[in-house]
Amino acid sequence: MLDLIIENGHIIDGSGAPRQRLDVGVQGDRIAAVGDLGQETARQRLDAAGRIVSPGFVDVHNHTDGWLLKVANFAPKTTQGITTEVLMADGISYAPVDQSTARDWIFYMRALDALLLEEYDGWHSVAEYMQRVDRASAQNAIAHIPYGNVRSMLAGYGDRPVDDFQMRLMVEEVTRGMEDGAVGLSTGLDYIGQCFASTDELVEVASAMAPYRGLYVSHIRYKKGTLAGVMEAVEIGRRAGVPVHISHMKATTPPDIEALLEYVDTVARNEVDFSFDVYPYLPGSTMLTYLLPFQVWVDGPLGVAAKLTEPDVRRDFARELASSKLENMHIAWLPGRENARHIGKTLDVYVAEVGKPPEDALCDLLIEENLAVLLVFHHGDDVLVRPFLAHDCYMMGSDGIYFPDSAVHPRLYGSAPRLLGPCVRDHQLFSLEDAVRKLSGYPSERFGLTERGVVREGYFADLVVFDSETVTDRATYEDPHQFAAGIDHVLVNGAAVVRDGVPVEDLPSPRPGRALKYRA
Ligand SMILES: [Zn+2]
Repeated sequence: MLDLIIENGHIIDGSGAPRQRLDVGVQGDRIAAVGDLGQETARQRLDAAGRIVSPGFVDVHNHTDGWLLKVANFAPKTTQGITTEVLMADGISYAPVDQSTARDWIFYMRALDALLLEEYDGWHSVAEYMQRVDRASAQNAIAHIPYGNVRSMLAGYGDRPVDDFQMRLMVEEVTRGMEDGAVGLSTGLDYIGQCFASTDELVEVASAMAPYRGLYVSHIRYKKGTLAGVMEAVEIGRRAGVPVHISHMKATTPPDIEALLEYVDTVARNEVDFSFDVYPYLPGSTMLTYLLPFQVWVDGPLGVAAKLTEPDVRRDFARELASSKLENMHIAWLPGRENARHIGKTLDVYVAEVGKPPEDALCDLLIEENLAVLLVFHHGDDVLVRPFLAHDCYMMGSDGIYFPDSAVHPRLYGSAPRLLGPCVRDHQLFSLEDAVRKLSGYPSERFGLTERGVVREGYFADLVVFDSETVTDRATYEDPHQFAAGIDHVLVNGAAVVRDGVPVEDLPSPRPGRALKYRA
């Protein structure tokens, strides 16, 4: 007898193949049967008439590393059907660390992810962190090796070139991470420490992954120009002999979009094994510290406050702010009670209220908030991201950032349903079968998730039941904390984590989500 039969639905299996009228039988944590199961017996039957049954979705770029330790059922994601999170994006996370850098990273990440200093309980390696993630929440997770953590631990935060000894230690650290099951190396070349990494350095570190076919996953040097950044990533992949994946790749003008996708089609995918992700929105979101000149980072996160008092730094910052539109950025979140009333305000309004020059107002705000200020940017039309979504090297990464009582980017709640609904029905960018593949089969294959991402007998029972007519995102910039519509049921390793559109709070213990290991 089966545990569960999901019957009368249409299966979209995640491979891109056309839908089929078939039932799915679940036994324990696996898909036990796919076919006509009308004669089979089961403890429970779920009627999926008029619904699609698909594999669980994979979010290949997110900032959920800490939330998975703190929240049993991370509803902004599970209610979209996301059953696996690929952690430790942008080269910045909570591991690997040593006693000293653990404090740095929890401090630095305060406006990006969940953890507080008092929650550090002594982990060092990525593997030790992932042991804590295993069975801690509703979702599965797999990790990158974040390069910022590796570099700061073994070569410091400064802008001097890495020496041979430091390089040897970094190569050992990356090798250990790959042995432990990481997907590959993530980099964030606009962020702390890594902004000083040279191309040659990145080639040498990435080469350590070649025996494992680890992925080089990069937030490229967007500040220096997207096309140049993608070209550098392709060069790194080619010289290191590893596949390349670009994080949140998009451009904001039609000529830039054309140039970028032409480069992808004529060069990138010929020179390396190439893919990319982006969330289906044009506007972005990141920490306010992102706008600071790179020089503030040379003494590490705890040295930044002192740098922000230096007149030179403020002068450089003023120059950078002169070219950005303050009215197009709003304060999405900050931790201080005193300043909480400013959440949701655009920076021009905030600056006017404080009555100081912009660079002084924002440097002082960063000092008051221990650097922890999250921004959302408003610029451009979502139409401009569509050519990327429609590209066949594209898979979904939400880049979602969560805080309660915040004005975060709606991509956190809406990325998957937006691909399944509006992008298929209204914009006709691709078929529903392709949308499901971009959310399940393709990322599972790319990020080495064994026996997941396709509805197939013997595979793990990560499953979503949704309504193709009504599925859509509901989160907006004004009102971001809105669950998707049309996602009815979500299973992770056979256990229900969303039932009738509602996140399940009484999850079995240990919880269903597992820490996964990469298999190329
Ligand atoms: Zn990024």
